[in-house]
Amino acid sequence: MPHASNIVFCAGPDAAHAFDNVAVQPRTGALDARCPICRGHGQWNTQIDLITFRCMRALCDHCHGYGWIETGSDPVAVPDIVMAPEGYPKWIVRYLDAAEVPGG
Ligand SMILES: [Zn+2]
Repeated sequence: MPHASNIVFCAGPDAAHAFDNVAVQPRTGALDARCPICRGHGQWNTQIDLITFRCMRALCDHCHGYGWIETGSDPVAVPDIVMAPEGYPKWIVRYLDAAEVPGG
């Protein structure tokens, strides 16, 4: 059955509906400032249906989706996947180089 829809497209985090239904991320670990790009949300809508609220989202690559950034010199860990020597993918914790950390 067709349903009513009103899909809007968001060009980026400054768009009017970019953060509709997108929660602010909790601050974790040593991260100490809200990301200036996504303002703490970690992601934003690239399109959203204002009636059903189905949406497609983009991850913020400034804060790696955390919503918060490290402004000091503490290491920032991100989950990553590598191929184990045994030939299967496995999760690891990878520490970002200073050059990858915004403001670091
Ligand atoms: Zn961000």
